[in-house]
Amino acid sequence: MSESNLAVVTEIVERYGSDPGRLMDIARAVQSELGHISEETTGQIAEALGLHRVEVRDTVSFYAFFSEKQLGKNVIRLCNSVVERMMGADEVAKAFEEAVGVPFGSTTPDGSITLEYTACIGMSDHAPSALVNGVVLSNIKPADVEKIVNSIKKGDAGAKLHSGGGDASDVDSNLRQPGPVIFSPMEKGSAIRAAVDRTPEEVINELNKSRLRGRGGAGFPTAMKWDFCRKAKGDARYVVCNADEGEPGTFKDRVILTEAPDLLFEGMTVAGYAMGAKEGLMYLRGEYEYLLSDLEQVLAKRRRQGLLGENICGREDFDFDIRIQLGAGAYVCGEESALLESLEGKRGAPRDRPPFPAQKGYKGLPTSINNVESLCCAARILEKGADWFREHGTRDSTGTKLVSISGDCERPGVYEIEYGTTIEQLLILSCGEDAQAVQVGGPSGKCVAPKDFGRTVSFEDLPTGGSIVVFGPERDLLECMRQYLEFFEEESCGWCAPCRAGTSVALKLFDKIVDGQGTASDFEKLESLCEAIKTMSRCGLGQTATNPITSTIGNFSRLYASRLVEDAPVVPFDLDKAMAVGREVRGM
Ligand code: SF4
Repeated sequence: MSESNLAVVTEIVERYGSDPGRLMDIARAVQSELGHISEETTGQIAEALGLHRVEVRDTVSFYAFFSEKQLGKNVIRLCNSVVERMMGADEVAKAFEEAVGVPFGSTTPDGSITLEYTACIGMSDHAPSALVNGVVLSNIKPADVEKIVNSIKKGDAGAKLHSGGGDASDVDSNLRQPGPVIFSPMEKGSAIRAAVDRTPEEVINELNKSRLRGRGGAGFPTAMKWDFCRKAKGDARYVVCNADEGEPGTFKDRVILTEAPDLLFEGMTVAGYAMGAKEGLMYLRGEYEYLLSDLEQVLAKRRRQGLLGENICGREDFDFDIRIQLGAGAYVCGEESALLESLEGKRGAPRDRPPFPAQKGYKGLPTSINNVESLCCAARILEKGADWFREHGTRDSTGTKLVSISGDCERPGVYEIEYGTTIEQLLILSCGEDAQAVQVGGPSGKCVAPKDFGRTVSFEDLPTGGSIVVFGPERDLLECMRQYLEFFEEESCGWCAPCRAGTSVALKLFDKIVDGQGTASDFEKLESLCEAIKTMSRCGLGQTATNPITSTIGNFSRLYASRLVEDAPVVPFDLDKAMAVGREVRGM
């Protein structure tokens, strides 16, 4: 047993209060210190936390950013999501392999660099992009790669990479269209003061009047969610902010966290007041680790200003604080019950429901999990009133919506639009008018054809968490859908067979069709398989994993038809001929 490793593990475990619930932080810190989490280290962590080693391994093996094998001193994670590949990530990958001298998925013999692929890192407006030791490297061109690798070898994995080629760390927000709700100026503390001037019930009533619906895509009324949690029995309650926007092509939370973090923390604090919670937890996706230190500073400032901590805004009975929990690269943790598991230090496997988080959430206590944008809207509603909020959007989709537009358009970025805006208007805003299709809501959403560009972004028509991807006229649409399917196959947590095995089989059939080898009967098999995966999967990931197929089958049937080959002719079975050999042998 390595004594020095044990000392490192002991110090880290003590730093987190020997709390098994902080296993994500502990694993991250150990990985960062030792370069990997070996079997021996797993045992040491388990012993220090009073867990079984299987429980620790369960967590460590689940997350993409933890590794049980030794990684290089520098880890380059190149994003290979659909938009990144559309923008040239494959060529960038080749350049990295040449410059580093090893293929992706491996480490240089001297242990200096590991090359890995990663799913969407929230930089589709800066594609191709990569994380280098957690630092964002954006707009990478193949010609930049050699300089970048030389900089990394010299130890410049941080800001100095900038001169090596890409735009490191200081990621441009690309906020193309600020709107009245999220991105208009706000006086710090105004929403909290407006909240504490009312009773918690009145706060929830105001939200109810605003008809605010959750911005994650499902659109559950926020007031109802808060009310359930407030009324649920429990010794404590929790406000959880889901800042794990993993839907490929979504990056609007990144811009809120950069441009308006105070508004978000204000919303969480208002939620804490309304529900009687003393603790808020922000689950920040591991890909956004580079934002962590700035966010911690914002929180510290708010504590000094009396906007967090004890007796907030002078209210003696109102204490509330916020802790940020980093994720570690798992798309499924965007699903709220998987997120709760991860917050508790476990693998991010979705829970069975009921019970719902409002009754039994974080640590088995009433919890409200809200999207970043929803919490920002809640703060604004308290500050400016439900009537003001309802002036924006449509009757059933009040307020504004942030959309992240990327792909084949000249002005990728974040736009705050009124609900009810058409796809056509979005294409005009982003200069992508010649699109052959628009993917609304990421891979789990819908692929919209030009005949439907008059449809609107709204809960009553096309709901979206925020991802809008434009596919230009030259794009191989089915190839993009294939990559979306690969993403779901990769991200399945493996708990249930329809999702785990079904996505693999669907991908094989889809490959066959896209490669021009599939027949009409393969196509029929694929359709029924999609239906089975949708209806039999346990959580939203599996239930929507085949949407890239089902949403293109109707509108883009010509693309499929053009690749199908004829079924091989069925040769009738000739019994007499089949028995002839036997007759001959037996001399009949
Ligand atoms: Fe896991 Fe997929 Fe089943 Fe969801 S549907 S629980 S992601 S295997």
